[in-house]
Amino acid sequence: ETSQETLSFQAEVSRLLDIVANALYSNREIFLRELVSNASDACDKLRYAALTEPQLLENDPELRIELSVDKDKGQLIISDNGIGMNREDLVESLGTIAKSGTSAFLDKLGDKRGEVDLIGQFGVGFYSAFMVAQHVSLETRRAGEETGWYWESTGHGSFTIAESDSAPARGTRITLTMKEDAQEFLEAANIRRIVKTYSDHIAFPVELKGEGDEENERLNSAGALWMRPKSEISDEQYKEFYKHVAHALDDPWTWLHFRVEGKLEYTGLLFIPSQRPYDLFDPQRKNSVRLYVKRVFITDDCETLLPSYLRFLRGIIDSEDLPLNISRELLQHNPMIAHLKSAIVKRVLGELERKAEKEPEDYVTFWESFGPVLKEGLYEDRDQSEQLLKLARFRSTRREGWVSLDEYIAGMKPGQNEIYFMTGEDPEVLRKSPQLEGFYDKDVEVLLMCDPIDEFWVPAVGSYQEKEFKSVTRAGADLDNIESESKDESQDTEAESEDSDVEALVTFLKENLSDKVKDVRASKRLTSSPVCLSADSGDLDLHLARMLKQHGQ
Ligand code: ADP
Ligand code: MG
Repeated sequence: ETSQETLSFQAEVSRLLDIVANALYSNREIFLRELVSNASDACDKLRYAALTEPQLLENDPELRIELSVDKDKGQLIISDNGIGMNREDLVESLGTIAKSGTSAFLDKLGDKRGEVDLIGQFGVGFYSAFMVAQHVSLETRRAGEETGWYWESTGHGSFTIAESDSAPARGTRITLTMKEDAQEFLEAANIRRIVKTYSDHIAFPVELKGEGDEENERLNSAGALWMRPKSEISDEQYKEFYKHVAHALDDPWTWLHFRVEGKLEYTGLLFIPSQRPYDLFDPQRKNSVRLYVKRVFITDDCETLLPSYLRFLRGIIDSEDLPLNISRELLQHNPMIAHLKSAIVKRVLGELERKAEKEPEDYVTFWESFGPVLKEGLYEDRDQSEQLLKLARFRSTRREGWVSLDEYIAGMKPGQNEIYFMTGEDPEVLRKSPQLEGFYDKDVEVLLMCDPIDEFWVPAVGSYQEKEFKSVTRAGADLDNIESESKDESQDTEAESEDSDVEALVTFLKENLSDKVKDVRASKRLTSSPVCLSADSGDLDLHLARMLKQHGQ
């Protein structure tokens, strides 16, 4: 028999717990949402496992979550008969934090303990129990396994694990010994209200244990929220559901709730977050729209369900047609998944287009969070590039805010046939670039592209509405055909007489710089700076060349 073991929390968890336990967070009651949400996930996981191993559900087929209170001991107990945890699960899940971006988040938080908003954005899941509890213990048994386990901690540096004989037959029982100032969470009225507020949409029954021989009281509506008619779901309910499925704490920017009948039948409830998740650009990051089949959770890791440029989407797709007991691997390649994917893309892009048109200011807040991701679609999904270009917004030399390509084209000068752009790191720096002088002079708008991705999609896409994209740092981006605002005849004659001088200078520079530059040309792009660097039509763009050089390529 193994005795008890004390293990240290991963350093990041310790730091996190320290912040969580001391946060002056007015919204502490969300700890219950987090624990109920985990219990619900555990029930989902068991139901999925039971598709192939039905014996796991035997003896206790009704999945549910039970809350009970022991006032004398000052304890709140949360039990579920879901998947449970074995020793490995415990150490892995409740001793470390898998979330990418944790370090970055903690550094950002620094010693600004008061900035609870950031905690809200990050979401601390299970660890939020330490906002209200001075001691947390749990007993758990993984479905289908013999040994039960005990875990406990006060949230200071370490936790203890031991085998347990009194663990539930299956699932997890968490006991919170509440802090002095958190006794209010032992009141039935408060528990009722909190569950109704945050967890009403949970698909399994959440019950409050009756006292003595009283019956348990059901606290939530229990039932898949997405199956209810839209008219019966309040905005608040949609928002709470989003927080549960997305494991997020912001409010969604918007959502799409739809049911499709016909050849393929499915229901979707998809959310676009308002805030960028910390790991949006983490290469390990996966799509996290959950796939259900007839209300049974299948996976939140179906890579082929969404294109990666829509990876900011959250929510669920529930199919009536997919086979229930298909392995997750086979599922990825099912043609129905491909069909769902293209339907989702169409719907989401359509909704974005509608938003861009109807609520342009609100749309820009979306673009600022997720535009750089959406632009990845420009070279990943050539079928959608026209529509994606329509949705794209840019900084430019001529405007304060954002400009669409349609607006850009509407503002083109007589004689202008190309969409001029310049890439770099910072629009403010680009604005001052000598390469732009000629463009300013003729009042020709130049798009300022500052996302790394811009280097890649522009050459792939080439043009929009038959107007070619043209980098201003390339030779040949000449402005001769565009009428100048202040065209002055006398300048032209003067220029002619200077031509021979210029030729002599060009020859001189070519001879002296032959090992450093490919060519020297006289240009009409510059009006006040004497020279600028430019890239040849077939060569790498200047900013890209610099970027690659920085990465040692
Ligand atoms: P998240 O839910 O976002 O994964 P949490 O911090 O809320 O993060 O939970 C961490 C992990 O602990 C879960 O992913 C799960 O593996 C495990 N866990 C927590 N509560 C339970 C539970 N009641 N039953 C089974 N596993 C659980
Ligand atoms: Mg959780």
